[in-house]
Amino acid sequence: MVAEIILNSNAKELNRVFDYNIPETMAYKATIGSRVFVQFGNRKELEEGFIINIKDESEFKLKDIQKIVNENGISEEKVELAKLMARRYFCNVSECIKLMLPPGTTTKIIENRVKEKNENFVSIVNEILVQNDIEENKFKSAKQLRILKFLLDNGETNLADLLLFTDTTRDAVKSLEKKKYVVIEQKQVERNPFLHKVEKKTSKLKFTDEQQYAYDKISFAMDKNKYGEYLIYGVTGSGKTEIYLQLIENALRNNKTSIMLVPEISLTPQTVDRFIARFGEENIAVLHSKLSIGERFDQWNKIKNGQAKIVIGARSAIFAPIKDLGIIIIDEEHTSSYKQENHPRYNAKDIAILRSKYHKCPVVMGSATPSLESFARAGNKVYKLLVLSKRPSSSTMPNVEIIDMKEEVKKGNFILSDTLKCKIKEKLDRKEQSIILLNRRGYSSIISCRECGYTEKCPKCDVTYTYHKTSNNLKCHYCGTAKVPSKVCPKCGSKLRDFGLGTEKLEEELNKLFKARIVRMDVDTTSKKGEHQKIIDDFGEHKYDILIGTQMIAKGLDFPLVTLVGVVSVESSLMAPDFRASENTFQLLSQVAGRAGRSTSKGEVIIQTYNPDHYSIMLAKNHDYLKFYKEEMSIRKMLKYPPYYYLALVSISSRDYEGGFKEANKIGNYLRSKLGNSIILGPTTSSAFKINNIYHYQIIIKYQKEDNLISTLNFIIDMYKNNNKIDVEVDFNPIRI
Ligand code: ADP
Ligand code: ZN
Ligand code: ZN
Repeated sequence: MVAEIILNSNAKELNRVFDYNIPETMAYKATIGSRVFVQFGNRKELEEGFIINIKDESEFKLKDIQKIVNENGISEEKVELAKLMARRYFCNVSECIKLMLPPGTTTKIIENRVKEKNENFVSIVNEILVQNDIEENKFKSAKQLRILKFLLDNGETNLADLLLFTDTTRDAVKSLEKKKYVVIEQKQVERNPFLHKVEKKTSKLKFTDEQQYAYDKISFAMDKNKYGEYLIYGVTGSGKTEIYLQLIENALRNNKTSIMLVPEISLTPQTVDRFIARFGEENIAVLHSKLSIGERFDQWNKIKNGQAKIVIGARSAIFAPIKDLGIIIIDEEHTSSYKQENHPRYNAKDIAILRSKYHKCPVVMGSATPSLESFARAGNKVYKLLVLSKRPSSSTMPNVEIIDMKEEVKKGNFILSDTLKCKIKEKLDRKEQSIILLNRRGYSSIISCRECGYTEKCPKCDVTYTYHKTSNNLKCHYCGTAKVPSKVCPKCGSKLRDFGLGTEKLEEELNKLFKARIVRMDVDTTSKKGEHQKIIDDFGEHKYDILIGTQMIAKGLDFPLVTLVGVVSVESSLMAPDFRASENTFQLLSQVAGRAGRSTSKGEVIIQTYNPDHYSIMLAKNHDYLKFYKEEMSIRKMLKYPPYYYLALVSISSRDYEGGFKEANKIGNYLRSKLGNSIILGPTTSSAFKINNIYHYQIIIKYQKEDNLISTLNFIIDMYKNNNKIDVEVDFNPIRI
């Protein structure tokens, strides 16, 4: 027997199949997806690889496989999926296979240790500080840097995993501990991935007519084993989740399984609770980033051995080792977190479609504010559109009031307007709760007028300029146009500076003004597992009156006592240097507006802004998605953005400032010569230009139909694959540019 093997390597030239002989003695554990070790070329150490096919013979003279580590491989479906992904996302098949393996597999010798339950844990003391010090290049040791970056991405991690994943030593961690960047704590690991206990059981509700219609359409397809793409467009609280629950119940009845994707599970614990309350913990597996590798391993097994028939999780849960899929549901389909921002840059929605086609089952996307791309697809009848226009319960949509901060500033109110102060006081007196949102994404490199909200934009791209300190100029990251920033606001004459108001400052202000119990939720207060949950639980039990937070609180929270939501400043979202800034703002505000008054008492939303006439804000106030859609589509059409044009982003990075730019120019010229039907923008500097002493440049390709695109891009990637000075990557349909 002969195995076709893919080596576990990111090197482009190794992205192909190699034949190896399967020795008799190992034949019993060789399956597709098995992890193997082989002798490759004249390398001394054994190389790791994966079996992707088994056949009877080969035309070559073969070496033996040296070792098969786990018999527990991936299915043929996954192997095919990995191959498709590799082509689509310009990466190696092995990089895609890794996404599909049981947690921990690709790290050396992990199998036994993952099962232990007493571990040393490492966590970052202060994420903001670490991020800051990384940006300022304070870490000279590459190992320490790897550790910190890993912890920033993955949160608290047990020490042994950390060392394996980052290929570092205990000493490196110890010296970070000495410098008080991290702490090491020994903990008895309790393997319970569920964020808290749900005792009560719920049973299904009687559908409204609209719900029934949507349910019937989808369940009909399920019962007939038919593939189909559905978009449920329903305002917040219109009963989408109830439909998901009953669709999953239908899958169970047919003895089928379900995958339910949510934007970020640790941010939407209440959604998970509703699934547990309906189906019980024993039937559900959850997969999310706050789980330890050991916990993820347990959940993976629970799915693999068929015990859990329902998988709930964030993006990567789409790769769950589930069989007999009956439905895939993608909640809040407009959320950017379904797209992976690093290599392989897959979108979980695309993977969901591939898997649904394979399993012949429906894929359901739901949102109160569908992405423009999805709604346009529904318009073209690619997706079947199902509409929920009303809330089933007696609750009405909240009242939204917009406050013009230009007027407030004149009165000396820089943070809170008179109206918002007044409302907070009123709610406190009535023993009701408030949520105050401060959407700060850290675009400190945006120059804006604090008096009137004016922000300079590139007229060609309708995108905010980014300020570059070193060269003191404003630059458009789409087309490269640059200009000297004005000192004073051209609109109102006052001094221009960058925006910046943090949650801490806001908390201080609120504490000064009110006698209230205030809790803050942001990356500082929720870096540890369980902290987030505790804040939510405590707030739910009315241990606090006011919850302050970044956009993480906008998602999925449902508290009956919350009757006021205040948005302190919309500008950081509205002025983000991104062609989707208006769309993202509309989505954020709509979502926030949906949080207030979920129960019978009517909710109120107050939005403070320097741009009260902006259509995103006005239309979010009126809960008018359809009008927003039309308005935004006409702008996209005019400026040739998605969904009218597709985008591809070519990123070029190098340690060499000038060399990088020279190569980027070469690539730009080559693209222009080959892609006659496309618009090529750039090269220009990326919005995060210099990170860790690496310079980033980018080229944007706008196209509708371009037959040469894939081959041209592949040619470029091949050209640079052996060049260790220049790194070239391609991202199709990028979320951030
Ligand atoms: P969405 O997911 O669209 O935000 P939910 O499914 O969370 O909406 O529903 C909002 C509220 O309405 C929930 O409290 C839910 O229990 C309730 N609800 C949903 N469907 C019905 C129904 N058919 N009858 C009565 N109440 C319902
Ligand atoms: Zn101004
Ligand atoms: Zn521009």
